[in-house]
Amino acid sequence: MSDIIQLLPDNIANQIAAGEVIQRPSSAVKELLENAVDAGATEIKLIVNDAGKALIQVIDNGKGMSETDARMAFERHATSKIKNIEDLFRIKTMGFRGEALASIAAVAQVELKTKKSADTVGTYIEIENSAVIKQEPCAYNVGTSISMKNLFFNVPARRNFLKSNSVEMRHIVDEFIRVSMAFPNVFFSLTSNGQEVFHLEAGNIKQRVVQILGNNYNAKLVPVKEHTDYLDVYGFIGKPDTAKKTRGDQYFFVNNRYIKSAYLNHAVNTAYDSLLPKDSFPSYVLFIDLDPEQIDINVHPTKQEIKFEDEKITYAFVQAAVKHALAQFSIAPSLDFTLNANIQSLSAVSNPFTEEKKEAASSSNLYKTFTQKNQAHFIEKSDKNELKHWKDFYDPASKKYEDEQRETNKEKQETRNGEQETIFQIANFKHQTLNFELTQLHNTYIISPTPKGFMLIHQQLAHERILYEKYSKAAHQQQTITQKSLFPVNLELGAADAVLLNELLEDVNALGYQIEPFGNNSFVIQGTPADVLQGNEKNSLELLLEQFKHFSSDIKFSKREKLVRCITRQNAIKAGQSLSQKEMQTLIEDLFKCQTPNTTATGNPTFMEFKEDYLDRMFTKW
Ligand code: ADP
Ligand code: MG
Repeated sequence: MSDIIQLLPDNIANQIAAGEVIQRPSSAVKELLENAVDAGATEIKLIVNDAGKALIQVIDNGKGMSETDARMAFERHATSKIKNIEDLFRIKTMGFRGEALASIAAVAQVELKTKKSADTVGTYIEIENSAVIKQEPCAYNVGTSISMKNLFFNVPARRNFLKSNSVEMRHIVDEFIRVSMAFPNVFFSLTSNGQEVFHLEAGNIKQRVVQILGNNYNAKLVPVKEHTDYLDVYGFIGKPDTAKKTRGDQYFFVNNRYIKSAYLNHAVNTAYDSLLPKDSFPSYVLFIDLDPEQIDINVHPTKQEIKFEDEKITYAFVQAAVKHALAQFSIAPSLDFTLNANIQSLSAVSNPFTEEKKEAASSSNLYKTFTQKNQAHFIEKSDKNELKHWKDFYDPASKKYEDEQRETNKEKQETRNGEQETIFQIANFKHQTLNFELTQLHNTYIISPTPKGFMLIHQQLAHERILYEKYSKAAHQQQTITQKSLFPVNLELGAADAVLLNELLEDVNALGYQIEPFGNNSFVIQGTPADVLQGNEKNSLELLLEQFKHFSSDIKFSKREKLVRCITRQNAIKAGQSLSQKEMQTLIEDLFKCQTPNTTATGNPTFMEFKEDYLDRMFTKW
């Protein structure tokens, strides 16, 4: 009885391992789509029911599996993609860990149909709790169909952890987009509850980007295309006017694998530099291809984060490629380029600085690409200061990045502190008629005398309170104030946004929009809430969707509450806007008609009152 360690049975071990790979329906979608891509399919169909909770099926016309392989595929660590440890460093496929199918078989009921072109019959297999419960020959076309039903049917704790269908569906759409964007030469479709949401004919990258992000991108994409010995950077970036207020359409693919990288994202942002309005984010779809030995994909179970052998070089190339593209299309003045002296020395960076290396570096493709193709790239003859140069080049960049990170962390900290401290007591000021002259300070604050002191009102926060109450009322009592648009506005969205808007349509309309679906990802805006400027209908709605996506990780609010908060923030008068006497008066009057005038919905004070006795105490010693 003193020995207590046991080996876990396979199905439990698999269930535990599955937790890493299959966290939610979208993770299974990603794995199955990637398997289909790896199988060389040119047509891949994804079918989901109930946001993947009831069914996820992927049908491909790839190379299929033999009978033995079909069974083997569901074993843990079963893969056809690597054979030895060296292979791990030259991975060209999406998968290689051999865990996905084993994980899926541990947490869902799986049905597989598959046939290779050389075989006359195919194989049908049914699996539950990691065990094969049925296997028989079957007739099938070439390729593979895998359906997984009732995800987490045997792990109720996990199943309960799943979010609402709309949230899970959004994750699925995200994964679908990431894979389909990376392989534009493959046909993809996504059908949800019997309705086809995406139908992406095979084409080139630009066509795929437009299919996914929407037609309005068509004229707004700038091609990026740089070929060097070390890596290739290509794809499209959005003209500065496609920049969004929240991180939206930003995609990096490294060897066709979607990755997240704050570091590379920073490289793109700094390349746009002053071209972007403050606090906005550029759109981009960028592919980086390089020798697989230069990256490590195996640092994260779902492979969304990768390690670059030389992160700084990659940073510099991406930044230069984007700058170059913007310059070539006359979006940025070409004079901006002083980068090249540094880039030129890059291939020498990782190596000791010998004369031959210098020679080799300057005759490499890399060097030539950035010299000959574009005069905007000014090349300095290398000199003794070379080492110093590239240091200057990187250090400020990476330091700036770190500084910014630190800055945002600090800001977060400060708001938190601010929430706890209320320096001045906030009076519950019942407002009297305003006979006083109001003063606007720094286009942000309004100073209003009160019978016994004065009040300092924050114009934006005050207006947020007013709008918040107005929209909440509208949303809950269906009493909306809609202003008809002079001309109905046509809105064409990317398929993902169209899915989202369809889902939100009822709620958005309850807030005062009048939007009708018009088929094929288009909508017509007939009216908007009264606060939206005429002519700004489209922008306001796009911004609303953006903000909603941004907000959606916050689970404590209902869909409608989130919308109310987004639309409030969007339409509030901003700090910095100059206001007339009349506008200030109306603002203050409206504020004090609110039920809770003192704070915004998020709890910031909207005004402070300074009373006579408080002022007296400030100025008299005793
Ligand atoms: P990995 O993709 O990491 O190899 P998986 O568990 O996803 O591991 O798949 C195991 C193996 O099953 C793959 O290596 C491949 O040989 C085979 N396989 C999976 N899906 C397909 C498919 N759609 N078509 C053909 N073969 C497949
Ligand atoms: Mg796989």
